Amino acid sequence: MTQLLIINYHRILSAGETVPNRFRDFTLDKEKFEEQLFWIKKAGTDVVDLNDFEFCKNHQFFLALTFDDGKKSDVEHVLPLLQQYEFKASFFPVVNLIGTEDCLTWNELKYISQCGFSIGSHSMNHPSLTKLTASELQSELVQSKKILEEKTGKPIKQFSIPYGIYNQHIIKTVKESGYGIALTTRFRINHPGDISLMHRCNIRRSTSFSTFKKLINRNIATTRYLQMSSIFKYMLHQFIS
Ligand SMILES: [Zn+2]
Repeated sequence: MTQLLIINYHRILSAGETVPNRFRDFTLDKEKFEEQLFWIKKAGTDVVDLNDFEFCKNHQFFLALTFDDGKKSDVEHVLPLLQQYEFKASFFPVVNLIGTEDCLTWNELKYISQCGFSIGSHSMNHPSLTKLTASELQSELVQSKKILEEKTGKPIKQFSIPYGIYNQHIIKTVKESGYGIALTTRFRINHPGDISLMHRCNIRRSTSFSTFKKLINRNIATTRYLQMSSIFKYMLHQFIS
C-alpha cells in the first residue's frame, strides 16, 4: 500500500542561537537537522511534494517535509540544505508575522517560492481556529490565501492548521475556502485518495535520533507501533487534562 509520512519542523538554530525556554522544544540545532536529512538520503526514501502525492501509486513509502511558522531559519539554514540534498518541501508562514523579528520577509518568501518549493498558509494570525467566529475563521483562511497568492503569483493549495487543533467544521471550511489539503499535527500515516485532510509528525528537540530513524526507515511495523503509542499518549493526555 502506498504510504506517506509527513514530518514537520519549526525553527532550526545555528550554533550559539537561543530561544526562550517555552519555544525550545520546537527548535532543532542545525547539525541535528542536517544529520536527519543525511539519514533520509541514506535510507533512500523518496521525498515528494505534497501536491504530487495523489499521483504516487506505486506502493511505496514516501516522505514529505513541512516547515511551519515562516521563521528566518527557513531561508538561512533550511533552504540551502534542502537544495544540497535535492529534497522538496512546503513552507507555511503566518501572514501577519511576515517581516517581523525572526520571521521571513516577503522577498525571502518569494525567493523560496521561486526556488520551486511549495508555499502554503498557516493563517493570518496563528489563532486557535476552534475559538473563532465564522467570519473570523473565514478571514484567517481566505484572506491569507489571497495575500499569499498575490505575493507569490502561485496558487496556494495547502493550509497548515495552527496548533493542529481542528474539528469537522474547520476541515469543511478549509475545503470551501479553496484549499486542497488541510494539515494537522496528529501522527498518522497518509494514503492517496482523499488528501483533503493529511496528518503530520512534529519533529521536536526531544525526538531522539533513534525514534527519527525508525520513523523514516520504511519499517511499517515500527511506524504502526509508534502510531499506536502516539494515539495512546494522546488519549492519556485527554484523560488527565
Ligand atoms: Zn504554528
